[in-house]
Amino acid sequence: MEFIDPLLDKYVCEHTANESDLLKKINRETHLEVLQPRMLSGHFQGRVLSMFSKMIRPERILEIGTYTGYSAICLAEGLTPNGKLVTIDINEELASRVKGYFDESPYSQQIDYLIGDAMELIPALNEKWDIVFIDADKHNYINYYHLVFSMVKVGGYIIADNVLWSGKVIDPAQHDKDTLLLREYNQLVHQDDRVEEVLFPIRDGLMIARKINE
Ligand code: SAH
Ligand code: CA
Repeated sequence: MEFIDPLLDKYVCEHTANESDLLKKINRETHLEVLQPRMLSGHFQGRVLSMFSKMIRPERILEIGTYTGYSAICLAEGLTPNGKLVTIDINEELASRVKGYFDESPYSQQIDYLIGDAMELIPALNEKWDIVFIDADKHNYINYYHLVFSMVKVGGYIIADNVLWSGKVIDPAQHDKDTLLLREYNQLVHQDDRVEEVLFPIRDGLMIARKINE
């Protein structure tokens, strides 16, 4: 589903900063060589994530769902010089490709790439996060939110991708599990007094929650 007029979308992209050569390469190779390339954030959303990160200047970013590393590198662009990004993915088949991309990036020393189930790995991370980017299995979004909440700094952000789910969240005919849980996620964040939130209708929808209270 297109949320904005395709010609307007084209105009928006044409007037948004270009991707780096490395991000272009990841984008191209993911589309040619990896299953489900639509999962990659892509040019426009990548620039949005990079801009958010540069505005926040985070010291610690946690990403749940690395895929081919595109969004991780975009988010890493805003890290402070001694900042660190931890990114987790359960798919070990992509690991050597993704490690190669991170090594080619200027952030190889700042990115920790962990392979495994995020629900199992996150509790062992002894950090306080400025940004958590939730972009893995949709049916676990609520679990991730509760799991990371106490690890997010007051004033930090929990950003969740794909929360409009191609528009299915407003289609009463849709009852599949992911759609139900994404609706529930948006409602949970909206009703949680500990955060202030904005649902950005960017690409497939970004729910941005800023933690204002423990
Ligand atoms: N953030 C990437 C896209 C992520 S796609 C980008 O914007 O470019 C979603 C990823 O979540 C997939 O690579 C999938 O392997 C991973 N994933 C699914 N379930 C997971 C789990 N339980 N733990 C960690 N990663 C998971
Ligand atoms: Ca996504």
